Amino acid sequence: MNSRPGRRTIIEPFKIKMVEPLRMHSRDVREAALRQSGYNLFQVPSETVTFDFLTDSGTTAMSSNQWAAMMQSDESYAGSRSFFRFEKVLQDLTGYSHVIPTHQGRASERLLFGVVIQPGMKVPSNNHFDTTRANIVHLGGEAVDLVIPEGRDPTSLHPFKGNVDLAQLEAFCAQHRDHIPLGMMTVTNNSGGGQPVSLENLRGASAIFRKYGIPFILDACRFAENCWFIKLREEGQQHRPVLDIARELFSLADGAMMSAKKDALVNIGGFIVLKSGEWVEKLRASLILTEGFPTYGGLAARDIEAMAVGLLEGLDEDYLAYRVATSRYMAERLEKIGVPVVQPPGGHAVFIDAKRFLPWIPSHQFPGQSLVVELFLHDGVRTCEIGSVVGGKWVEGTFVPAPMELVRLAFPRRCYTQSHFDYVLEGMEEIVGRKDQLRGLRLLNDPPVLRQFTARFEPLEP
Ligand SMILES: *Cc1c(COP(=O)(O)O)cnc(C)c1O
Repeated sequence: MNSRPGRRTIIEPFKIKMVEPLRMHSRDVREAALRQSGYNLFQVPSETVTFDFLTDSGTTAMSSNQWAAMMQSDESYAGSRSFFRFEKVLQDLTGYSHVIPTHQGRASERLLFGVVIQPGMKVPSNNHFDTTRANIVHLGGEAVDLVIPEGRDPTSLHPFKGNVDLAQLEAFCAQHRDHIPLGMMTVTNNSGGGQPVSLENLRGASAIFRKYGIPFILDACRFAENCWFIKLREEGQQHRPVLDIARELFSLADGAMMSAKKDALVNIGGFIVLKSGEWVEKLRASLILTEGFPTYGGLAARDIEAMAVGLLEGLDEDYLAYRVATSRYMAERLEKIGVPVVQPPGGHAVFIDAKRFLPWIPSHQFPGQSLVVELFLHDGVRTCEIGSVVGGKWVEGTFVPAPMELVRLAFPRRCYTQSHFDYVLEGMEEIVGRKDQLRGLRLLNDPPVLRQFTARFEPLEP
């Protein structure tokens, strides 16, 4: 277990072998970068960022074992030794026979959905991630979210806010049985803020899908963090090794897709794993057409080696205890200094409630973006807005805001130390002390899709 029981200090369960300088620029440099980028943090060069909490995807620091495995990779076009090692790790972990490597999560989605989805079909889940939904919709399907009501309430303290509403799922399957090619569950629930799903709920969903003869596929991007929450929070699970919980989780489904850029602790990679061989031939044919031969799937063998090692390192309990302790610590400390956050914090991120923090800034002036800009200006902290920049709309001259104005701090794995987090918190406390000076922004353009990436703003004068 991470450090001794009862100790307050969170320690990183690793020491540092290789370092990368942390850029410490002046406020002037950041101000210039912001002006040039239209106050959009997706558009600033990462060189101007000191603490990058934009995403936890592909931003992991790899271990010496992963780098060592990469050096030993077999870059053969076909039948690479590295693939067989990777295949064995996944077969042992999931109990599934068929392993298909891909370059990242959305490639898995495109391949699998391409084989099973016809126009008019429906795919139920707790919450579909953006790319999952987009790939289903692209094929003429419908992505249906059936998370429990607590999962949509930022103040609910439910321990498993990622759970699917089993009564709704049952009714949905009964009604649409002939148009459901597969059912899904996202663990942890990313769109809901990294909230876990309980084993009990997964057992319930599994039984429903089985009853209606619907294949059950996991979106397993953060399966290790999910299993750790099960161990911490679900009755009767405290004494089980997390690997054991993970094996049960996979045993409840018929397959999984994963972006290895999350809990497999790598910078690129993904896969599809399946219990039955029914779709495998079509999947491999499609893989060869656009990604690569089935033993490398669009990756270098060294990336496959890094995934094989990372999948198991991501299940290490000292690592998981430290990982989840960090987001809990950040959430607790932020609340303490007067920054309201969504509770309970998820595994990979903390969400600040900007509407409550800056109540005088109306939604159409983007309170979340105002805080995103301030965090960057003050200390070079890069975060992202998940609020009206992403989801607000003008309808007949009136602004319809997003349901919440959030700022996400997503934590790269094994990158930043506890003192970095304390330093960031100290800066936040300074912002809290003069938050009444913060003003909103004016949106200068209105990109038709995915506005957050290309929007340009202008700060409003005090
Ligand atoms: C990141 C993510 C994906 C997509 O993976 P990419 O590697 O970014 O293509 C799918 N589902 C969930 C839950 C994710 O977090």
